[in-house]
Amino acid sequence: MREKLTPYLSKLSHKSGISKQYSHNIKEKNFGHFNDPLMEDAHEMVKGLVHKYKNRALIKVSYLCAAHCRFCTRIRQIGNPKGTLQKVDIENIVCYLKEHPEIEDVILSGGDPFLTPKITESLLKNINKIDSVKVIRIGTRLPLQSPESFERNSIGQLLDTINRISIEKPFYILLHVEHPDELTSEAITSLKLIKQKTATILLSQTVFLKGINIDFDTLYSLFTKLYFSGITPYYIYHCDSVNGLEQFVGNIEEEKEIMRRLRDTLSGIAYPTFVADLENEYGKYPFDLEIIKTTANSVIKNTNIFVLDK
Ligand SMILES: *Cc1c(COP(=O)(O)O)cnc(C)c1O
Ligand code: SF4
Repeated sequence: MREKLTPYLSKLSHKSGISKQYSHNIKEKNFGHFNDPLMEDAHEMVKGLVHKYKNRALIKVSYLCAAHCRFCTRIRQIGNPKGTLQKVDIENIVCYLKEHPEIEDVILSGGDPFLTPKITESLLKNINKIDSVKVIRIGTRLPLQSPESFERNSIGQLLDTINRISIEKPFYILLHVEHPDELTSEAITSLKLIKQKTATILLSQTVFLKGINIDFDTLYSLFTKLYFSGITPYYIYHCDSVNGLEQFVGNIEEEKEIMRRLRDTLSGIAYPTFVADLENEYGKYPFDLEIIKTTANSVIKNTNIFVLDK
């Protein structure tokens, strides 16, 4: 994966919460031998469509992003122009979804679906005609990498299409965000534009990244800012064991301790579920935080209450 930044991000490179996410000057082990521990490629049933869980499918619209995050789980693919869906690929995906009515929840990912608005629009219009698809989601980082592109006509048109669909079906926008430095006024403006122009629900996803956000204050600030901007934190992941990402993988016990402190301090809606995407096909599983609280006369461990004395 080559280094790639947007002019907008270059202007923000003095903010360490941002520059560390995109900097490629770190020595990488195993560079060039990236693996696929989540077995996405093995579950790619037709080009672009990953069917790992019975009722859900993930569609990679392209492998293109406005900027290249050094910690990307799909570091093996990002930047490769061969990932971009063609007309025939969209037809095959639509056929597969029709033949598999058990797929009710479709997630557009990549790559960034907002970077190829025409392809995403065509895909959405076709998927929307399939009655068995009940929910649609789009994962994106473009509001944080190039917020000004949301003023372009092509994205405006895509938002119009999303709006028409989101009135009929639940439609989620999943913002991938790692650090409060990313939530600039420009970024918030582009997110508010999505909210104004569509009936979508905005959620966020975050990855614990060593050297970037494994720290209570940073995450408290991130989740509070998201909540106050109308974006509900959905998941926080333990970093995947992808070759080349070793420098970002944190300590699980330290991450659990931060989650316990966040649970003590954040509003419930601002508190995401801490999951690991287990290797192979097992999927995303929440960690047991083993929250222990001591009150005057009892010890409470998660749901179990042990009364010490009366
Ligand atoms: C994450 C993911 C999903 C969606 O999982 P949820 O837990 O429902 O958010 C679906 N398919 C694939 C391949 C995924 O990686
Ligand atoms: S925007 Fe998402 S898919 Fe693209 S490089 Fe960053 S993490 Fe990976």
